[in-house]
Amino acid sequence: MPTEKHGVGRPLGERVRGALRDWSVPRQVRGQDAERAAAESEGSRRLRPRLEEADRVGTSICPYCAVGCGQLVYARGNQVIAIEGDPRNPINQGTLCPKGSATFGWMQNPNRLTTVKYRAPFSDHWEERPLTWAMEQIAQRIKKTRDATFVKTIEDGVPVNHTTGIAELGGATLDNEENYLIKKLLAGGLGMIWIENQARI
Ligand code: SF4
Repeated sequence: MPTEKHGVGRPLGERVRGALRDWSVPRQVRGQDAERAAAESEGSRRLRPRLEEADRVGTSICPYCAVGCGQLVYARGNQVIAIEGDPRNPINQGTLCPKGSATFGWMQNPNRLTTVKYRAPFSDHWEERPLTWAMEQIAQRIKKTRDATFVKTIEDGVPVNHTTGIAELGGATLDNEENYLIKKLLAGGLGMIWIENQARI
């Protein structure tokens, strides 16, 4: 609904004078800076750059899929305040798909899970445990299984140095570099031979 702000209720002469004063064309004719002052309005003067409050920016890789788009992560203090595509990255050249664009949202989401659920053998209930505890458990169990199932040589004396006690199945979010490191660690380091990845087309 039109209000006094829009001129309703003001005398016609005053409204015309106001329009001539504020409209960009007469301001440009009067010689005001056509690129700035004449193009400004009360609203545009209040607008601030979206990343003005950031005090540093770092680079990262979108964690969602194997395209591995480059990201710029803006922070103020220790708080991430925005994430956007990195224009210097040859893969995405500054763009992000809707999933990558949502990275900031899920980082800040108060419902984000930061613990794991653990149900001990023969237990009838789940327990909350920290992520660091889960990682340590996984590392210990892999080491224990690997040591218990490691085969140095087969019957005819041929060295194999492998284990068939553990298998690995990767996901579509793994990029080339991650798969390279996984293969190095699991095959070269632990002797695993059952290593598979979900192909991404
Ligand atoms: S999810 Fe989207 S933004 Fe993220 S790496 Fe894949 S294509 Fe890029």
